[in-house]
Amino acid sequence: MKILQLNKPLAPISFDALRLQADRIRHASVGDAVYLRGVIEFSNFCRCNCLYCGLRKDNALLQRYRLNEQGVMAAAKEAARAGVDTIVLQSGEDPAYRKRLVARIVSRIKDETGLAVTLSLGVRSTATYQLWRRAGADRYLLKHESADAGLYAALHPGGGLDDRIDAIKRLQDAGFAVGTGFIVGLPGQNDAVLMQDIMLTQALQVEMCGVGPFIPQHNTPLAGEQAGSVGKTLKIIAYLRSHIPRLNIPATTALASLSPEYGQEMALKAGANVIMPNFTPEKHRAKYRIYDGKVRVSMADAYAAIDKTRPLRKSAEERPACNSALHIFPNAPAAYWADVAKGGAQ
Ligand code: SF4
Repeated sequence: MKILQLNKPLAPISFDALRLQADRIRHASVGDAVYLRGVIEFSNFCRCNCLYCGLRKDNALLQRYRLNEQGVMAAAKEAARAGVDTIVLQSGEDPAYRKRLVARIVSRIKDETGLAVTLSLGVRSTATYQLWRRAGADRYLLKHESADAGLYAALHPGGGLDDRIDAIKRLQDAGFAVGTGFIVGLPGQNDAVLMQDIMLTQALQVEMCGVGPFIPQHNTPLAGEQAGSVGKTLKIIAYLRSHIPRLNIPATTALASLSPEYGQEMALKAGANVIMPNFTPEKHRAKYRIYDGKVRVSMADAYAAIDKTRPLRKSAEERPACNSALHIFPNAPAAYWADVAKGGAQ
Protein backbone atom coordinates (compact mmCIF):
# COMPACT_ATOMS: atom_id res chain seq x y z
CA MET A 1 0.00 0.00 0.00
CA LYS A 2 1.33 3.38 -0.98
CA ILE A 3 1.45 5.74 1.97
CA LEU A 4 0.85 9.41 1.31
CA GLN A 5 4.03 11.28 2.06
CA LEU A 6 4.62 13.69 4.88
CA ASN A 7 6.88 16.02 2.94
CA LYS A 8 3.91 18.05 1.65
CA PRO A 9 1.91 17.74 4.78
CA LEU A 10 -1.22 19.77 5.15
CA ALA A 11 -2.09 21.55 1.94
CA PRO A 12 -2.14 19.45 -1.23
CA ILE A 13 -3.91 16.28 -0.12
CA SER A 14 -7.69 16.46 0.08
CA PHE A 15 -9.12 15.52 3.41
CA ASP A 16 -11.34 13.00 1.68
CA ALA A 17 -8.38 11.12 0.18
CA LEU A 18 -6.43 11.31 3.39
CA ARG A 19 -9.32 10.14 5.54
CA LEU A 20 -10.14 7.22 3.27
CA GLN A 21 -6.52 6.12 3.26
CA ALA A 22 -6.33 6.40 7.04
CA ASP A 23 -9.52 4.39 7.45
CA ARG A 24 -8.25 1.61 5.21
CA ILE A 25 -4.93 1.52 7.04
CA ARG A 26 -6.75 1.44 10.37
CA HIS A 27 -8.80 -1.52 9.19
CA ALA A 28 -5.76 -3.40 7.86
CA SER A 29 -3.41 -2.71 10.76
CA VAL A 30 -5.43 -2.64 13.99
CA GLY A 31 -8.80 -3.96 12.83
CA ASP A 32 -12.31 -2.71 13.42
CA ALA A 33 -12.50 -2.82 17.22
CA VAL A 34 -12.93 0.41 19.14
CA TYR A 35 -11.37 0.18 22.60
CA LEU A 36 -13.25 1.73 25.51
CA ARG A 37 -10.96 3.05 28.21
CA GLY A 38 -12.74 4.44 31.24
CA VAL A 39 -11.15 7.55 32.76
CA ILE A 40 -11.28 8.39 36.47
CA GLU A 41 -9.92 11.87 37.25
CA PHE A 42 -9.11 11.35 40.92
CA SER A 43 -7.31 14.61 41.81
CA ASN A 44 -7.22 18.03 40.18
CA PHE A 45 -4.33 19.32 42.31
CA CYS A 46 -1.22 20.02 40.24
CA ARG A 47 2.24 21.33 41.07
CA CYS A 48 2.80 22.49 37.47
CA ASN A 49 1.86 25.70 35.75
CA CYS A 50 1.29 24.82 32.09
CA LEU A 51 0.01 27.98 30.44
CA TYR A 52 -2.94 26.34 28.68
CA CYS A 53 -4.31 24.25 31.54
CA GLY A 54 -7.03 25.14 34.02
CA LEU A 55 -5.52 22.77 36.60
CA ARG A 56 -2.32 24.85 36.78
CA LYS A 57 -1.27 25.61 40.35
CA ASP A 58 -1.68 29.38 39.93
CA ASN A 59 -5.37 29.00 39.12
CA ALA A 60 -6.65 30.00 42.54
CA LEU A 61 -10.23 30.08 41.29
CA LEU A 62 -10.45 26.35 40.67
CA GLN A 63 -12.15 24.34 43.42
CA ARG A 64 -9.75 21.46 44.14
CA TYR A 65 -10.66 17.87 45.05
CA ARG A 66 -9.08 14.51 45.72
CA LEU A 67 -10.91 11.18 45.71
CA ASN A 68 -9.94 8.83 48.51
CA GLU A 69 -9.14 5.17 47.87
CA GLN A 70 -12.74 4.15 48.41
CA GLY A 71 -13.92 6.76 45.90
CA VAL A 72 -11.47 5.61 43.24
CA MET A 73 -12.42 1.96 43.74
CA ALA A 74 -16.14 2.75 43.52
CA ALA A 75 -15.60 4.61 40.24
CA ALA A 76 -13.40 1.79 38.89
CA LYS A 77 -16.03 -0.81 39.66
CA GLU A 78 -18.72 1.30 38.03
CA ALA A 79 -16.57 1.55 34.89
CA ALA A 80 -15.96 -2.21 34.94
CA ARG A 81 -19.68 -2.91 35.24
CA ALA A 82 -20.33 -0.54 32.32
CA GLY A 83 -18.06 -2.66 30.10
CA VAL A 84 -14.80 -0.74 29.60
CA ASP A 85 -11.68 -2.77 28.79
CA THR A 86 -9.24 -0.54 30.71
CA ILE A 87 -9.33 1.72 33.77
CA VAL A 88 -7.39 4.96 33.26
CA LEU A 89 -6.39 6.75 36.48
CA GLN A 90 -5.66 10.38 35.74
CA SER A 91 -4.71 13.39 37.87
CA GLY A 92 -2.62 16.53 37.89
CA GLU A 93 0.91 16.12 39.23
CA ASP A 94 -0.24 15.77 42.83
CA PRO A 95 2.59 14.72 45.17
CA ALA A 96 0.17 14.58 48.11
CA TYR A 97 -1.34 11.50 46.54
CA ARG A 98 1.39 9.15 47.79
CA LYS A 99 3.05 6.70 45.42
CA ARG A 100 2.33 3.71 47.69
CA LEU A 101 -1.35 4.62 47.81
CA VAL A 102 -1.41 4.70 43.98
CA ALA A 103 0.34 1.30 43.93
CA ARG A 104 -2.21 -0.18 46.32
CA ILE A 105 -5.13 1.15 44.26
CA VAL A 106 -3.59 -0.26 41.06
CA SER A 107 -3.24 -3.69 42.71
CA ARG A 108 -6.80 -3.59 43.97
CA ILE A 109 -8.23 -2.61 40.58
CA LYS A 110 -6.31 -5.43 38.92
CA ASP A 111 -7.43 -7.95 41.55
CA GLU A 112 -11.02 -6.83 41.88
CA THR A 113 -11.91 -6.05 38.25
CA GLY A 114 -9.38 -8.02 36.20
CA LEU A 115 -9.05 -5.04 33.86
CA ALA A 116 -5.93 -3.43 32.44
CA VAL A 117 -4.83 -0.26 34.25
CA THR A 118 -3.43 2.85 32.61
CA LEU A 119 -1.88 5.65 34.66
CA SER A 120 -1.68 9.29 33.64
CA LEU A 121 -0.04 11.01 36.59
CA GLY A 122 2.72 13.07 35.02
CA VAL A 123 6.48 13.08 35.48
CA ARG A 124 7.74 11.04 38.44
CA SER A 125 10.96 9.37 39.53
CA THR A 126 12.14 6.14 37.94
CA ALA A 127 11.66 4.36 41.27
CA THR A 128 8.04 5.49 41.38
CA TYR A 129 7.40 4.31 37.83
CA GLN A 130 8.96 0.93 38.68
CA LEU A 131 6.84 0.63 41.83
CA TRP A 132 3.64 1.28 39.89
CA ARG A 133 4.64 -1.16 37.18
CA ARG A 134 5.35 -3.84 39.78
CA ALA A 135 1.93 -3.12 41.28
CA GLY A 136 0.43 -4.17 37.94
CA ALA A 137 -0.12 -0.97 35.96
CA ASP A 138 0.04 -1.86 32.26
CA ARG A 139 0.20 1.47 30.43
CA TYR A 140 1.13 5.08 31.06
CA LEU A 141 0.00 8.21 29.25
CA LEU A 142 2.47 11.09 29.16
CA LYS A 143 1.88 13.52 26.33
CA HIS A 144 4.89 15.25 24.84
CA GLU A 145 2.49 18.18 24.21
CA SER A 146 4.68 19.84 21.54
CA ALA A 147 7.74 18.55 19.70
CA ASP A 148 9.10 22.07 19.29
CA ALA A 149 11.51 22.65 22.18
CA GLY A 150 11.04 26.43 22.15
CA LEU A 151 7.25 26.21 22.13
CA TYR A 152 7.35 23.53 24.82
CA ALA A 153 9.51 25.72 27.06
CA ALA A 154 7.27 28.74 26.51
CA LEU A 155 4.18 26.80 27.53
CA HIS A 156 5.67 24.88 30.47
CA PRO A 157 7.43 27.18 32.96
CA GLY A 158 10.39 25.34 34.47
CA GLY A 159 9.99 22.38 32.12
CA GLY A 160 11.86 21.22 29.03
CA LEU A 161 11.04 18.89 26.16
CA ASP A 162 14.19 16.84 26.84
CA ASP A 163 12.98 16.03 30.35
CA ARG A 164 9.60 15.02 29.00
CA ILE A 165 11.14 12.69 26.43
CA ASP A 166 13.45 11.31 29.10
CA ALA A 167 10.41 10.48 31.27
CA ILE A 168 8.74 8.69 28.35
CA LYS A 169 11.87 6.59 27.85
CA ARG A 170 12.12 5.84 31.58
CA LEU A 171 8.52 4.62 31.47
CA GLN A 172 9.30 2.35 28.54
CA ASP A 173 12.38 1.03 30.36
CA ALA A 174 10.18 0.28 33.37
CA GLY A 175 8.04 -1.92 31.12
CA PHE A 176 5.03 0.28 30.44
CA ALA A 177 3.23 0.47 27.12
CA VAL A 178 3.37 4.24 26.74
CA GLY A 179 1.02 6.70 25.11
CA THR A 180 2.01 10.19 24.14
CA GLY A 181 0.01 13.04 22.63
CA PHE A 182 0.01 16.62 21.50
CA ILE A 183 -2.23 19.63 21.08
CA VAL A 184 -3.32 21.07 17.73
CA GLY A 185 -3.73 24.83 17.42
CA LEU A 186 -1.47 26.03 20.22
CA PRO A 187 -0.57 29.71 19.94
CA GLY A 188 2.79 29.87 18.16
CA GLN A 189 2.38 26.48 16.47
CA ASN A 190 2.51 25.99 12.71
CA ASP A 191 2.19 23.03 10.33
CA ALA A 192 5.92 22.32 10.46
CA VAL A 193 5.68 21.86 14.23
CA LEU A 194 2.73 19.50 13.78
CA MET A 195 4.79 17.42 11.38
CA GLN A 196 7.55 17.36 14.00
CA ASP A 197 4.93 16.08 16.45
CA ILE A 198 4.09 13.18 14.14
CA MET A 199 7.75 12.38 13.54
CA LEU A 200 8.54 12.49 17.26
CA THR A 201 5.59 10.20 17.98
CA GLN A 202 7.03 7.74 15.50
CA ALA A 203 10.56 8.04 16.89
CA LEU A 204 9.36 7.42 20.45
CA GLN A 205 7.88 4.05 19.42
CA VAL A 206 4.86 4.55 21.65
CA GLU A 207 1.69 2.46 21.60
CA MET A 208 -0.80 5.32 21.59
CA CYS A 209 -1.04 8.99 20.70
CA GLY A 210 -3.86 11.35 21.63
CA VAL A 211 -4.43 14.45 19.54
CA GLY A 212 -6.85 17.13 20.62
CA PRO A 213 -7.54 20.70 19.58
CA PHE A 214 -6.33 23.48 21.85
CA ILE A 215 -9.28 24.90 23.82
CA PRO A 216 -8.65 27.95 25.99
CA GLN A 217 -9.54 28.00 29.69
CA HIS A 218 -10.70 31.33 31.01
CA ASN A 219 -8.47 31.38 34.13
CA THR A 220 -5.19 30.75 32.31
CA PRO A 221 -2.70 33.05 30.55
CA LEU A 222 -4.00 31.74 27.19
CA ALA A 223 -7.62 32.65 27.98
CA GLY A 224 -7.98 35.04 25.05
CA GLU A 225 -6.45 32.79 22.40
CA GLN A 226 -8.36 31.19 19.57
CA ALA A 227 -9.31 27.53 19.88
CA GLY A 228 -7.74 24.96 17.56
CA SER A 229 -9.68 23.59 14.66
CA VAL A 230 -11.66 20.36 14.50
CA GLY A 231 -10.80 19.98 10.82
CA LYS A 232 -7.07 20.29 11.31
CA THR A 233 -7.16 17.90 14.27
CA LEU A 234 -8.93 15.30 12.12
CA LYS A 235 -6.32 15.75 9.43
CA ILE A 236 -3.54 15.17 11.93
CA ILE A 237 -5.28 12.02 13.18
CA ALA A 238 -5.48 10.76 9.60
CA TYR A 239 -1.78 11.56 9.06
CA LEU A 240 -0.86 9.76 12.26
CA ARG A 241 -2.78 6.65 11.23
CA SER A 242 -1.27 6.76 7.74
CA HIS A 243 2.25 7.21 9.01
CA ILE A 244 2.19 4.93 12.09
CA PRO A 245 -0.33 2.22 11.16
CA ARG A 246 -0.38 0.22 14.40
CA LEU A 247 -0.76 3.16 16.75
CA ASN A 248 -3.78 3.32 19.06
CA ILE A 249 -5.40 6.69 18.48
CA PRO A 250 -8.20 8.03 20.67
CA ALA A 251 -11.12 10.08 19.45
CA THR A 252 -10.40 12.64 22.13
CA THR A 253 -12.76 14.32 24.56
CA ALA A 254 -11.43 17.68 23.36
CA LEU A 255 -12.78 16.88 19.89
CA ALA A 256 -16.12 15.93 21.44
CA SER A 257 -16.08 19.19 23.39
CA LEU A 258 -15.62 21.37 20.31
CA SER A 259 -17.96 19.22 18.22
CA PRO A 260 -20.29 17.31 20.57
CA GLU A 261 -22.42 15.84 17.82
CA TYR A 262 -19.79 14.77 15.31
CA GLY A 263 -16.30 15.08 16.78
CA GLN A 264 -15.74 11.50 17.89
CA GLU A 265 -17.62 9.98 14.98
CA MET A 266 -15.45 11.92 12.55
CA ALA A 267 -12.28 10.93 14.42
CA LEU A 268 -13.25 7.23 14.24
CA LYS A 269 -13.76 7.68 10.51
CA ALA A 270 -10.36 9.36 10.15
CA GLY A 271 -8.31 6.57 11.75
CA ALA A 272 -9.02 6.67 15.49
CA ASN A 273 -9.78 3.41 17.33
CA VAL A 274 -10.15 4.32 21.02
CA ILE A 275 -12.78 6.24 23.02
CA MET A 276 -12.26 7.19 26.65
CA PRO A 277 -15.60 7.52 28.47
CA ASN A 278 -15.49 9.42 31.75
CA PHE A 279 -16.28 7.85 35.14
CA THR A 280 -15.21 10.68 37.44
CA PRO A 281 -17.93 11.02 40.11
CA GLU A 282 -20.50 13.56 39.00
CA LYS A 283 -19.99 15.95 41.91
CA HIS A 284 -16.33 16.48 40.90
CA ARG A 285 -16.52 16.17 37.12
CA ALA A 286 -16.88 19.87 36.34
CA LYS A 287 -13.86 20.66 38.54
CA TYR A 288 -11.47 18.78 36.25
CA ARG A 289 -11.61 21.82 34.02
CA ILE A 290 -8.46 21.56 31.92
CA TYR A 291 -10.21 23.70 29.31
CA ASP A 292 -13.57 25.43 29.04
CA GLY A 293 -16.60 23.54 27.80
CA LYS A 294 -15.14 20.09 28.51
CA VAL A 295 -17.96 17.62 27.98
CA ARG A 296 -18.44 14.30 29.66
CA VAL A 297 -18.18 11.41 27.20
CA SER A 298 -20.47 8.69 28.56
CA MET A 299 -20.65 5.05 27.49
CA ALA A 300 -23.84 5.94 25.62
CA ASP A 301 -21.98 8.69 23.75
CA ALA A 302 -19.19 6.24 22.90
CA TYR A 303 -21.59 3.62 21.60
CA ALA A 304 -23.49 6.24 19.59
CA ALA A 305 -20.29 7.36 17.86
CA ILE A 306 -19.28 3.74 17.17
CA ASP A 307 -22.73 2.91 15.81
CA LYS A 308 -22.51 5.75 13.32
CA THR A 309 -19.28 4.29 11.93
CA ARG A 310 -20.49 0.70 11.57
CA PRO A 311 -20.83 0.84 7.76
CA LEU A 312 -17.10 1.60 7.57
CA ARG A 313 -16.10 -1.03 10.10
CA LYS A 314 -16.41 -3.83 7.55
CA SER A 315 -13.91 -5.30 5.19
CA ALA A 316 -12.70 -2.90 2.53
CA GLU A 317 -14.59 -4.82 -0.17
CA GLU A 318 -17.89 -4.50 1.67
CA ARG A 319 -17.69 -0.79 2.21
CA PRO A 320 -19.82 1.66 0.33
CA ALA A 321 -17.93 3.78 -2.16
CA CYS A 322 -17.07 7.15 -0.62
CA ASN A 323 -16.14 9.73 -3.18
CA SER A 324 -16.77 12.86 -1.26
CA ALA A 325 -16.77 14.09 2.28
CA LEU A 326 -20.53 14.52 2.14
CA HIS A 327 -20.90 10.79 1.63
CA ILE A 328 -18.74 10.07 4.61
CA PHE A 329 -20.52 12.30 7.11
CA PRO A 330 -23.96 12.77 5.59
CA ASN A 331 -25.43 14.55 8.60
CA ALA A 332 -22.68 17.01 9.35
CA PRO A 333 -23.65 20.65 8.91
CA ALA A 334 -22.01 22.77 6.24
CA ALA A 335 -19.83 24.56 8.78
CA TYR A 336 -17.87 21.37 9.45
CA TRP A 337 -17.25 20.82 5.78
CA ALA A 338 -16.13 24.36 5.29
CA ASP A 339 -13.62 23.85 8.08
CA VAL A 340 -12.40 20.51 6.77
CA ALA A 341 -12.19 21.76 3.20
CA LYS A 342 -9.97 24.62 4.33
CA GLY A 343 -7.64 22.04 5.81
CA GLY A 344 -8.76 23.18 9.21
CA ALA A 345 -7.32 26.64 8.65
CA GLN A 346 -7.53 28.57 11.88
S1 SF4 B 1 -1.29 20.02 31.77
FE1 SF4 B 1 -1.01 18.45 33.36
S2 SF4 B 1 0.92 18.99 34.35
FE2 SF4 B 1 0.24 20.82 33.22
S3 SF4 B 1 -0.93 22.03 34.71
FE3 SF4 B 1 -2.39 20.72 33.63
S4 SF4 B 1 -2.61 18.88 34.88
FE4 SF4 B 1 -0.74 19.97 35.53
